[in-house]
Amino acid sequence: MNDREAFSRRSFLKTLSVGTGALALMPTLQSFLPQGKKLGIALVGLGGYSRGQLAPALLETQHCYLAGLVTGTPSKADEWSKKYNIPDKNIYNYSNFDDIANNPAIDIVYVVLPVSMHKEFTIRAAKAGKHVICEKPMALNAAECTEMIAACKKANRMLSIGYRLHFDPHNMEMMRLGQKNIYGKITALDTGNGFVYRGDPNAWRLKKALSGGGALMDMGVYSIQGTRYTLGQEPLFVTATEQKTNNDLFKEVDETITWQMEFSGGLITTGKTSYNNNWGYLKATAEKGQFALEPAFGYGGIKGSTHLGVMNMQNINQQAAQMDDFALCVLNKKPTRVPGEEGLKDLKVIDAIYRSIASGKKEKIG
Ligand code: NAD
Repeated sequence: MNDREAFSRRSFLKTLSVGTGALALMPTLQSFLPQGKKLGIALVGLGGYSRGQLAPALLETQHCYLAGLVTGTPSKADEWSKKYNIPDKNIYNYSNFDDIANNPAIDIVYVVLPVSMHKEFTIRAAKAGKHVICEKPMALNAAECTEMIAACKKANRMLSIGYRLHFDPHNMEMMRLGQKNIYGKITALDTGNGFVYRGDPNAWRLKKALSGGGALMDMGVYSIQGTRYTLGQEPLFVTATEQKTNNDLFKEVDETITWQMEFSGGLITTGKTSYNNNWGYLKATAEKGQFALEPAFGYGGIKGSTHLGVMNMQNINQQAAQMDDFALCVLNKKPTRVPGEEGLKDLKVIDAIYRSIASGKKEKIG
């Protein structure tokens, strides 16, 4: 098996554990921290991401810890409760989940389920009085995102999306260089994110009812985010096309999509996503230089450079940084930098991309 064949989602997204860097990112919030208080997080859905990244990261966090589990599989509850020392009173299934309302040990519910279940569990968690982190993509479409935001507002609970790259020093540097016009205005931006899908052909990711779509929902969302946060602007229009080479595997969902997004002032950016190509880059050209990341979006070590040379940035445990920041936001009643509205903006772009593929025309976003 050569390197390319051995490439898998998990190895691509391998955790690099350097938890201390997380704290360096949030000196201001930290200084207001009530002494010693750690918030309890319950993970809903104990699949690959919870097992491989979130639960291990919660052993490194300073302001939150793994306090509860929500799973439909009793054998997982047994295994995890032993491994992470979780008391039975903090373990729920999908039916009795609402009882979590009576459990003061759980402050935050983290929804790590197939996309079609994000809305239901976010709203149930908020109604149970819990703050919520919901994984990406936020929901099946923008209309669902709007409902989730409204439900959390009504319950007076904070809602955040699992956009870990807002805490990664390399991606933060892209935001700084782009949004502050450090090398002048951006004149071109190109991004791609994808991997060669070699997983279970029956997995939820390939079922439209559960995933909402294929590569675009799963991987393209990072490219859309990356474009938006590098520019610090919202796209107005999008034109997109879809290419499919494997109609059996990708019967229900998109395999490869390319798009052009238009911004005010006339800038047109390009992007692509795929379940059949190993991509992971974010490249900007500005009036007086270039800056880029490749790999840009994973957590196995991001690399960056500008026209002046290598970006000298640390790779940190992104998940630990993201969850610690949200815990501090809850503790200090400060807004999160990745609220539900961020997820909504991306789903508006995704909705418009699917509309453009269907219509064959340029579509307005939003
Ligand atoms: P997974 O398939 O490994 O796990 C899904 C979990 O949901 C499993 O525990 C499964 O038992 C449970 N589940 C409940 N109802 C189900 C149903 N009807 N069908 C299938 N599974 C069901 O998926 P994952 O990779 O852990 O992804 C979960 C979420 O996390 C997704 O929203 C995904 O986009 C997101 N994710 C984010 C990142 C990131 O870097 N932020 C990385 C991976 C996954």
